[in-house]
Amino acid sequence: MKIYLATNNKGKIREINTLFKGTGIEFIGGVDLSSVVEDGNDYRDNALIKALFVYKHSSTYVVSEDSGLEVDALDGAPGVHSARYADLLKANNAADIDNIAKLLTALKDVPLEKRTAKYVSAFCFIDGGVESFFMGEVHGKIIDAPRGTLGFGYDPIFVPDGYDRTFAELGDEVKNKISHRAVASAKLRDFLVDKFLKRSG
Ligand code: IMP
Repeated sequence: MKIYLATNNKGKIREINTLFKGTGIEFIGGVDLSSVVEDGNDYRDNALIKALFVYKHSSTYVVSEDSGLEVDALDGAPGVHSARYADLLKANNAADIDNIAKLLTALKDVPLEKRTAKYVSAFCFIDGGVESFFMGEVHGKIIDAPRGTLGFGYDPIFVPDGYDRTFAELGDEVKNKISHRAVASAKLRDFLVDKFLKRSG
């Protein structure tokens, strides 16, 4: 079964397909979301905006995901603005390297023990106009210089609790077990496989 994934982020499509390996569900991109304005108040709102946009184009099952990084010392910033943090006035996403540089500058006087943060993920599934949401989080710390080349976004500066390496050093194998997206997508997977796929035969 193929389901549209409402994102232009290839890193997300890859991660989510890995998380659904063996389920018979494959996520495909292909609808250009560059004109979509993600101006929701929270991750669920933004996930819904993206899912509805693709649903209007495809009229089939659509999954979307919205996520972000919340840093406690910055009162939850960059949060829903994570993708364009370095250039908040622009509609388009900023480069990862610029977002990281801005965050490290904002935290330069904050000691490591106070650099606690979490990634948050919200999935939205649209089935004939009915929406369902699935949330996940992973807690960790923001270190003071990037380390590692794997992953995407803020991964080179995020060290998940219980580890001493960044997500960009740990790679997909660990990340896909503990990440915000892994937690939220496990709930979506249970919903799709156990309830929805079985119900519809
Ligand atoms: P979205 O595509 O609008 O949901 O933007 C989410 C943004 O949050 C991304 O562009 C990244 O900056 C950040 N982000 C979300 N999840 C992750 C992750 O797993 N690793 C690194 N950065 C992430």
